[in-house]
Amino acid sequence: MTSLDDLPLRDNLRGRTPYGAPQAPVPVALNVNENTHGIPEAVAHDIVASVAASIIGLNRYPDREFTDLRRDFADYLGHGLTAENIWAANGSNEVLQQILLAFGGPGRTLLGFTPTYSMYPLLSSGTSTSWVAREREPDFELSGEYLARVIAEETPDIVVLCAPNNPTGTPLELDAIRAAYEAAPGIVIVDEAYAEFSDPATPSALELLPGRPRLIVSRTMSKAFAFAGARVGYLAADPVIADALRLVRLPYHLSALTQAAARAALRHSDAMLAVVDDIRGQRERISAGLSALGFKPYRSGSNFVFFGGVDDTDKLFRQLFERGILIRDIGIPGHMRVTAGTEAETSAFLDAMSALRS
Ligand code: PMP
Repeated sequence: MTSLDDLPLRDNLRGRTPYGAPQAPVPVALNVNENTHGIPEAVAHDIVASVAASIIGLNRYPDREFTDLRRDFADYLGHGLTAENIWAANGSNEVLQQILLAFGGPGRTLLGFTPTYSMYPLLSSGTSTSWVAREREPDFELSGEYLARVIAEETPDIVVLCAPNNPTGTPLELDAIRAAYEAAPGIVIVDEAYAEFSDPATPSALELLPGRPRLIVSRTMSKAFAFAGARVGYLAADPVIADALRLVRLPYHLSALTQAAARAALRHSDAMLAVVDDIRGQRERISAGLSALGFKPYRSGSNFVFFGGVDDTDKLFRQLFERGILIRDIGIPGHMRVTAGTEAETSAFLDAMSALRS
């Protein structure tokens, strides 16, 4: 049998493991921070009609600039943004990859604050960018002073701030992002994959874009929009950032089907986002329920809760799995992450936790 070691693989990919969140058909999947509420049926019909209408034109390449979609994203985000401020790709993972292709690469560094999104190091190795990991402060928080100090020490080409942070859910205050930007010599990415679940007290970094051409705010339709399967991510930034990304994107990277589906979903953003409040409520139920059982949930501005106080994460994972519930072991001793589900899913999780505790 040929093994990977037998192939002339790039040296910096040797010994790496691919992204590997388990995909198992369980009744209650709360492990990859999806929106478990699904797409409203009326919206689904409109998306189908829009995608169907685009099929007749599939003999042609799609609009390489996806201008209509960019305009729709700008309208959705507000903040005075226009189509020129927007870029999009097949999931925000691809948006982040394009940013690293344009601004990272051999001899360059990406700085992040761990524990954080597990794809950042993988995107770094895929683009031959050096991943520099510094730890978050106690309780996984990040202050402006700390960010400014670490960034001044590391002088990275790119900084990525995950806000709210995956896997810990920690919100990030605008002052901290401001301080990070001032200290950073290069690009600052604020990954706002979960922004729609944030509490109003923590505004989006979109507010900081004017006058900050090195700042990129990355977003996705995968979470609040319940559109993970469609693979649509996007960013807002100074228009010059799109000029840079055009140099590395594949031509026609957003298919006509994707563009049609995303535009249809955006037309129904109110209906698509109607469940966000409910999900926030389920998140609060999880935090309160876990606290009552003696676990330590951390503050969360996202659709998931990170909690400590687990004696044996492998065992808890298995015990829940046997009950048809999938949550996430991030590899941090004593800690696990659970996504807020529907009311019934959240109850199933909390009931199981309570039964296992007694
Ligand atoms: N950023 C963060 C912080 C995430 O958690 C995820 C998804 N797990 C992504 C980006 C990528 O999402 P997508 O590619 O589906 O847009």
